[in-house]
Amino acid sequence: METIIACKICGLMQRMEALQPGTAAECCRCGSVISKHKVNSLGRTAAFSLAALILYIPANIYPILRLTRYGAYSESTVWDGCVRLFEDGQWLVAVIVFLASILIPLFKLLGLCFLVITTKFKSARRRQQRTWIYKIIEVIGPWAMLDVFLLAVLVALVKLEQIATVLPGPGLLAFTVVVALTILASASFDPKLIWEEPDKGS
Ligand SMILES: [Zn+2]
Repeated sequence: METIIACKICGLMQRMEALQPGTAAECCRCGSVISKHKVNSLGRTAAFSLAALILYIPANIYPILRLTRYGAYSESTVWDGCVRLFEDGQWLVAVIVFLASILIPLFKLLGLCFLVITTKFKSARRRQQRTWIYKIIEVIGPWAMLDVFLLAVLVALVKLEQIATVLPGPGLLAFTVVVALTILASASFDPKLIWEEPDKGS
């Protein structure tokens, strides 16, 4: 089936045949890629999301930071950190950390799984809403990195003051891998598949 597509770079409208898996189409005027058919998009999105969902558990159960201060040793998980910030009256920071490191990653992963399952069964229902879910996941993508940066800043600050020794806990590794896998999962998903008609192959 032919479609008419506009180049995002130079704006030229052009007719395009349906692409074979693993191929891409270039603009005939400026040469930018105008459309891509990703190979096994659903399979890869499912694999990355599932791996991330599994690692989400140790990322939240195990401590992300181990702290030695004046000889006292303490460990804290992401949730402990939120609670402590809240108790210290830093409720705005507590809410940001809670959203960026606990709620949003989970929402993204569940959203991606939902998109994979409904697309796999070629559901024609609520396509607009599903496209919206995909757009939201894309927009909030970079914000999931936020607290890795926050942690790095925290560790640097504490080290500067020389009052405590901060070591990364096992949860931090799992946490970082979850962030990376989620980025790969959302990059693998091809939103055009949501709109593919059931009679055609994927
Ligand atoms: Zn162009």
